[in-house]
Amino acid sequence: MLRLEGHGNAGDSCFCGLAAPVFRCRDCFGMRMLCNQCVLHSHASNPLHRIDMWSNSYFQHTSLKQIGLCMQLGHNPGKICYNPHPSTGDDFIVIDVHGIHEITLDFCGCASSQVHYKQLLHARWYPATTSEPRTAATFSLLEHFHLLSFESKVSTYEFYQSLVRRNNHAGLLPIRVCSWYV
Ligand SMILES: [Zn+2]
Ligand SMILES: [Zn+2]
Ligand SMILES: [Zn+2]
Repeated sequence: MLRLEGHGNAGDSCFCGLAAPVFRCRDCFGMRMLCNQCVLHSHASNPLHRIDMWSNSYFQHTSLKQIGLCMQLGHNPGKICYNPHPSTGDDFIVIDVHGIHEITLDFCGCASSQVHYKQLLHARWYPATTSEPRTAATFSLLEHFHLLSFESKVSTYEFYQSLVRRNNHAGLLPIRVCSWYV
């Protein structure tokens, strides 16, 4: 447990040899540390993982959005869309089993693209609205809540508060949902 508080055997350089390894994912297996580009590359298919950044003597929370990840809908992960349409507002809120995430999201505007809410459903994210969606819940979160509500009678409010604590257990950070903070 003490070892996990530090950066372990991370050397001066990431395995790519291009930059210092200062990022570690809390949701990936293992405790390998990566540089900015490598952590973005390895999370093209996992945009909702929680990232910590080594800051001289301790880890501080950051996010894939803060270090430059932009999620693209309508194409396979890692593929480029030549007609990206940014979501309305600065960011998009995704509620997942890991917590509540602010991400940068681009919809696809190519000729064969679907309307925005369908692009979200194709990614297994359930939109809060059909018109200009800015919030979605993952299918896995909805399934998790469905089972919990049957087995443990957890209330929606208590379930939501437990999700808030996954990102912000000490209550020090404002958590954004839709366009307001809680
Ligand atoms: Zn990860
Ligand atoms: Zn690297
Ligand atoms: Zn496209």
